[in-house]
Amino acid sequence: RFISFEGIDGSGKSTQARRLVAALREAGHEVTHTREPGGAPGAEVIRELVLTGAQDRWSPETEILLFTAARRDHLERTIRPALAEGKLVICDRFADSTRVYQGLTRGDLTAKVDALHELMIGMEPDMTILLDADPATSLARGIQRGGELRFEGFGLEMQERARAGFLSLAAAAPERFRVIDAGRSEDEVAGDILDAAQAVL
Ligand code: ATP
Ligand code: C5P
Repeated sequence: RFISFEGIDGSGKSTQARRLVAALREAGHEVTHTREPGGAPGAEVIRELVLTGAQDRWSPETEILLFTAARRDHLERTIRPALAEGKLVICDRFADSTRVYQGLTRGDLTAKVDALHELMIGMEPDMTILLDADPATSLARGIQRGGELRFEGFGLEMQERARAGFLSLAAAAPERFRVIDAGRSEDEVAGDILDAAQAVL
């Protein structure tokens, strides 16, 4: 089984993915905890390239290729082998992040993102936890936490656009998505996520 976490920057994905992994391991599951961009040695090199340097270092189309290349490597080297061994895979971001960030934030490149996904990735998680959070609060948390916020300079407008993008993906695939209100305490959010995960395991 393969579960992804999605949501805007600072919505609590890393925190909640970590908690879910801990809870499932505690319950005796073998879990591979991974993240994107990255999650395999080659893909981590691409992560370095895409998260550093100017926002317009590459054209929007080239950026789609780089994120998809990283995902292909992650899939080949980490995700598929873990699934083949019967492990549970919990991934912080996956293809929905590319649909939103590479597909919608630098013009509408949805058709190219989808075509490349079909050609090179061709699979979806069994379940996607969408942490739906207030854009301003999340932005503040993301900035406060430090780390790699590509769109920090673009601020609130980017967060709002991304939130709407994730919600519309969820509305289009309700059988895969669980939308969780992330504007609550960490414990409350974690409880809902564990319930959702147990339902698919
Ligand atoms: P990014 O996409 O930018 O990596 P993220 O979605 O992984 O962010 P986290 O790094 O998990 O988000 O959380 C951002 C910050 O918000 C952290 O400092 C975290 O401790 C804090 N945080 C997470 N969840 C909550 C919550 N429910 N209430 C208050 N603070 C929270
Ligand atoms: O989730 P994480 O903090 O590792 O993401 C780092 C940055 O890369 C974030 O600002 C996120 O919005 C951006 N990103 C992106 N396209 C993706 C995945 C992440 O622009 N497909």
